[in-house]
Amino acid sequence: MTNHAFKTGESRDQASLLPARIEDYVGPDNPVRAIDSFVRALDLAKLGFRHADRGVEVGQPPYDPADLLKLYLYGYINQIRSSRRLEREACRNLELIWLMKNLRPGYRTIANFRKENWKALKAANRSFVLLVRELGLVGGTIVAIDGSFFHGDARKASIFTRKRLAEQIAKLDQEIEAYGRSLEDNDAAEAKDQSKDRAGGPGGGDIGAKVAALMARRLRAQSDLDRLEESGETQLSRTDPDARLLSKSGQTLAGYNVQAAVDDKHKLIVASEVVNDSSDVGQLHAMAKAAKDALEAEALHVLADEGYYSSLELKACEDDGIVAYVPPSEGNGKLEKQGRFSRKDFSYEATADAYRCPAGASLYPMKGRFQNTSGRIEIRYASRKAICDTCQLRARCLSRKATTRIISRWEHEDVLERHRARMQGAGELMRRRSAIVEHPFGTLKCRAGYRHFLVRGFNKVRGEWSLMALCYNFTRVLNIMGFERFVACVAKVLLSRLRASGAATVRLQIAPQRFLVHITPWFALRRYQRPSLA
Ligand code: SF4
Repeated sequence: MTNHAFKTGESRDQASLLPARIEDYVGPDNPVRAIDSFVRALDLAKLGFRHADRGVEVGQPPYDPADLLKLYLYGYINQIRSSRRLEREACRNLELIWLMKNLRPGYRTIANFRKENWKALKAANRSFVLLVRELGLVGGTIVAIDGSFFHGDARKASIFTRKRLAEQIAKLDQEIEAYGRSLEDNDAAEAKDQSKDRAGGPGGGDIGAKVAALMARRLRAQSDLDRLEESGETQLSRTDPDARLLSKSGQTLAGYNVQAAVDDKHKLIVASEVVNDSSDVGQLHAMAKAAKDALEAEALHVLADEGYYSSLELKACEDDGIVAYVPPSEGNGKLEKQGRFSRKDFSYEATADAYRCPAGASLYPMKGRFQNTSGRIEIRYASRKAICDTCQLRARCLSRKATTRIISRWEHEDVLERHRARMQGAGELMRRRSAIVEHPFGTLKCRAGYRHFLVRGFNKVRGEWSLMALCYNFTRVLNIMGFERFVACVAKVLLSRLRASGAATVRLQIAPQRFLVHITPWFALRRYQRPSLA
């Protein structure tokens, strides 16, 4: 007989395994209380949450959107995203039992809340950015912008391009033709020998069914191709209608490109958007403007990588008081590779309104304006044929057939000249760019494991991304400020709301004890200087 001594748990028959009060399930500084305080400080009706402004009505009352939002915030912070898992956790997780006051919504209710409130979730995310701005946690002068691919709820094989559809149709045609030939052979063989039993071989009936199935697939592929032609789109997705094949650095995935503008001070996401284009070109101004509006900044410095370089976007930024730093795209360097002078070798002289070529000759503006393929209006500067004919550098400058050299200048080229001058001393800023903006994506993808969306379609995906961004910001702010300070600041917001509604006295009398506990540190915080919050 062995004689082991181990630690032993409590008896399962013991009557009081858990504290009697739900309030005692979580400690006084458990972060779940911060979620509770934050959601209570939100004006859910104003943010657009469904049922938030519901009065007393007949029938079964719905769940309070505040409770469901708390459930989702807790879930996304703790890497529990699926509605079925959230349903299970709400029944067995003591923190969630406390947060939800023992409410146990079913998975359909939970899933519907995320689907129906995508706009309100975006608004709640924006509301948190306003709060962090109020708390002085954003610098509001420098933001970095970048995009990151997230998998959608779709397989690569479910997304078709015109080329793929055309190939599929061609392949199906071949198969149908082959089966057609088999049918003809069958008919010929049957006519030759009516008495022969063919039960063991591929009967005409089987082949007919297979051909019908192939014809149905062909019809579907053709209708998809027609839809693509009509819409002018380049891809069509059969499962998630808005997911697209996105390619970068030789890798392709089916999903979305999430754009984020991140503030320099504490790497908080201040603006974000979900798009389905692989390219970041065309996103710079929209993201920079969204960040500027969210921060209510007078002037904003924006850092982005060369994937965002676009003269039209730089101009739009400048027009809106946004100073952009984007490394210029080098182009394909075709002329340099041929050993010929590129545009960089020609210098512009503003006083003479002329370009000076490497041989020292001047190129003067031609008559009229020209529109290039990207829609830019340009002025063309041409060299003199007589000078080029005798130039020693002709072979390095002109192509074999050309008689003069033409340099195009955008009508707003001064925007690019200012940008080029800025970029000369922006080495340190550009090094900071990746450290700022890659922090949230790295945290969400590597720490939380959020590399894919669980929902389909732009609206729902944007709602889910808002939850991810809100949870990233929320966790980060909690880490920066600490629990007590954060809850006290939120309590201040709640108190001012109650005061504004004229119900402060009454509501505070019935508020839970924990809320009153957090009001006290707020009064201490009034002496607290904002800059030291960081
Ligand atoms: S070929 Fe004409 S434009 Fe080119 S370097 Fe010579 S003179 Fe200048």
